[in-house]
Amino acid sequence: MNAVAIPIHALPSGGCSDAPVLRERGQHEVFCGLTGIIWLHRKIQDAFFLVVGSRTCAHLIQSAAGVMIFAEPRFATAIIDERDLAGLADANTELDRVVQQLLARRPEIKLLFLVGSCPSEVIKLDLARAAARLSTTFSPSVRVLNYSGSGIETTFTQGEDACLASMVPGLPASAPQAPAELLVVGALADVVEDQFLRLFRHMGVERVRFFPPRRASDMAPVGPNTHMLLAQPFLADTARALQARGATLLAAPFPLGVEGTTLWLQAAARAFGIAQAKFDAAVAPATQRATAALARARLALEGKSIFFFPDSQLEIPLARFLARELGMRLLEVGTPYLHRQNLAQELALLPEGTFLSEGQHVEKQLERCRAAQPDIVVCGLGLANPLESEGMTTKWAIELVFTPIQGFDQAADLAELFTRPLLRRMRLAA
Ligand code: SF4
Repeated sequence: MNAVAIPIHALPSGGCSDAPVLRERGQHEVFCGLTGIIWLHRKIQDAFFLVVGSRTCAHLIQSAAGVMIFAEPRFATAIIDERDLAGLADANTELDRVVQQLLARRPEIKLLFLVGSCPSEVIKLDLARAAARLSTTFSPSVRVLNYSGSGIETTFTQGEDACLASMVPGLPASAPQAPAELLVVGALADVVEDQFLRLFRHMGVERVRFFPPRRASDMAPVGPNTHMLLAQPFLADTARALQARGATLLAAPFPLGVEGTTLWLQAAARAFGIAQAKFDAAVAPATQRATAALARARLALEGKSIFFFPDSQLEIPLARFLARELGMRLLEVGTPYLHRQNLAQELALLPEGTFLSEGQHVEKQLERCRAAQPDIVVCGLGLANPLESEGMTTKWAIELVFTPIQGFDQAADLAELFTRPLLRRMRLAA
């Protein structure tokens, strides 16, 4: 596989940093921000997500949750019915009643999110005001926050961004002169967090917090002593809100694959003045294991072509990993939004000449995809079946968000998410 030994002070430059991007507007095929509830409700274990929406919203959450075998009911939908549409006063009274019942039945809830939807936005139900009112009523045992998961002009991972951003104003301020602290921002599987925590400790970075926390009472303080490392590429609003509270964003690629994980950890090492030798010693065993495991996947993926439809906002880091560590050929890398600042390190690592597109005109993109005939297509559920029926091999983008894929020990699992559909297609064809 490709060498990934990168000197600690070297930040990537070049690649696709200034590459032209095809910007498209038109019909797009993505889930809405409500989908984020599926992984967020597992992460913050004493939080509850109350969607204020329609039966469609309830069905979406239920069917998305059906993808997960370990879904637990820490979310529900307060259905806006026709009566509510007729009179807003009713909708607010009804919402208060539903919340009252819920909190009486579920005393373990410490943080309640009122999650807005297309219907609640259409009827202009002011959930910020409702959250403030309910917070006053149920304080101090329960905090009530709100954010929008509406599908109008958004993509599904923005739900997490909106959720985390809604928590930032309530984070405690760090004490003046508090020692430097690392804040890892973005929901990660607990097992991945634990692995990172061990690596940070081996590196000598002791003061590490994660956001979102596992419990609502464990909110990290934030201030000028906070160095934040984004674990997910779709957290632009959250990052901005944390910067406004004084935190410093550490420039790094995302922790996908050996190279991405190494550079991500190195960004923390640099910020905390960790010596190169100590860093190398801390990451060497995990790097070697992951490199060996990836070598097997490379045999199956090297030279294979891949086409990304815009969906999860993970497309650019995934493309970088697949091209550089597994030798795949990138035909088109589509992303719903291109946050140049947060993705600067990733863009610099993409092979020169990579075709990038932002936004979507689904018909035009399907034409490009059919013409390119990729070996594998990464796309949303709505496109996967039609493309499979045309003989293409697909990977559901949403699976890449539900699965723990970050860090050294998950690098081979991530590669396997791409080898499996290719092998399945080969078996079908045999
Ligand atoms: S929030 Fe909007 S897009 Fe999402 S399920 Fe509800 S109606 Fe559909």
